[in-house]
Amino acid sequence: MNLYEYQAKQLFGLHGIPIKEGRVARTAAEARDIASSLGGPVVVKAQVHTGGRGKAGGVKLASGSDEAESIAAKILGMDIKGHRVGQVLVDPAVDIDSEFYLACVLDRGARRILIMASGEGGVDIEQVAAETPERITSVHVDPGLGLQSYQARRLAYGVLHALPDARRPAFAAVLRDFQHVVAQLYETCVEEDATLAEINPLVITTDGQMLALDGKVTIDDSALFRQQELASLRDAGVETGAERQAREAGLSYVDLDGSIGCLVNGAGLAMATMDVIKFFGGEPANFLDIGGGAQADKVAEALRIILADARVNSVLINIFGGITRGDEVARGILAALEQLDTDVPFVVRIEGTNAEEGRAILADAAMNTATTLAEGAQLAIRLADERKQGQSQEVVA
Ligand code: GDP
Ligand code: MN
Repeated sequence: MNLYEYQAKQLFGLHGIPIKEGRVARTAAEARDIASSLGGPVVVKAQVHTGGRGKAGGVKLASGSDEAESIAAKILGMDIKGHRVGQVLVDPAVDIDSEFYLACVLDRGARRILIMASGEGGVDIEQVAAETPERITSVHVDPGLGLQSYQARRLAYGVLHALPDARRPAFAAVLRDFQHVVAQLYETCVEEDATLAEINPLVITTDGQMLALDGKVTIDDSALFRQQELASLRDAGVETGAERQAREAGLSYVDLDGSIGCLVNGAGLAMATMDVIKFFGGEPANFLDIGGGAQADKVAEALRIILADARVNSVLINIFGGITRGDEVARGILAALEQLDTDVPFVVRIEGTNAEEGRAILADAAMNTATTLAEGAQLAIRLADERKQGQSQEVVA
């Protein structure tokens, strides 16, 4: 789960990283009010889940509340790399002396948090990594030991020594402040279960203050159960209604564009099912993993979500019975169909524990069953095509 800049910076603030005290506006008038209560020049910043907002015209300085209002009016509604701007952050503007890059990122390969720092702040760090990698200093933190002060010092010296003499700010103060921010960013990452916590730029102002001017935080979705407060920040706007409903029902669901609804137990099996549908020329309408030990009511809820999508012209149910019992799934499907009243055709493939009992229950109810996935996928594709054609004929007639 990605946080917006303003949420990321609030989190930084809670962990003792210095930030500016701006607020978020959804309308130009609100932006005006915030600017006038802050007083003085402000910066108006698009809040979207993507970087490079500055280059795209989504970050602008305003001399006062009049200008803040007119700039906010331009930025709100803007499209930045496919993200519509629904809110802007209005922060007090600062005079920047130097800009740094600092990030903690989970390095899965090393099974440690990697801290990276650079004197090349404000710009695209991927470009720095590709062209001048010597300008990035990085350390891996041993999770058992935690961040050691020598590591924070190494990062601070690395950053400062990479700067040309003319750009080296008051050394002692910066060394102290930088190490403090490193420690607090690492703490943020660990305590908030973040897989990424990035400050770009971390600046030193002309009056010598160190500040996090931008923030990007990604929270590990698998940790949201123990990060209730963060989970409530989730932006409902980027999830579709079906995705939210599914998440609340404890199902993993991703909306896709095809016509064949998929109901599968297990993420790997769900991926394989989508692959096989594609292999035979079909297009899956969704990814859906009902998880292990799925009970009848969970199956019913999953089918409700799939069938709410008008593009779905057939449904392929692919169940491998391990903990999940085939007969239980079969009863779940029938119970759901009673409530749903749909003319969308179903194809069911059940394998594993109690598969035969399950197939018998479905066959009694005149459902299409398949013994192999290849057979099931092809049947689901054919039925979807037939239903689509039937519908277009109805329209012509
Ligand atoms: P990004 O482009 O999405 O990474 O957005 P940032 O928040 O990093 O802003 C882009 C750039 O705008 C920064 O690198 C700064 O150079 C500049 N900027 C942001 N806030 C201020 C500010 O308060 N004063 C000044 N002078 N520049 C700012
Ligand atoms: Mn930035």
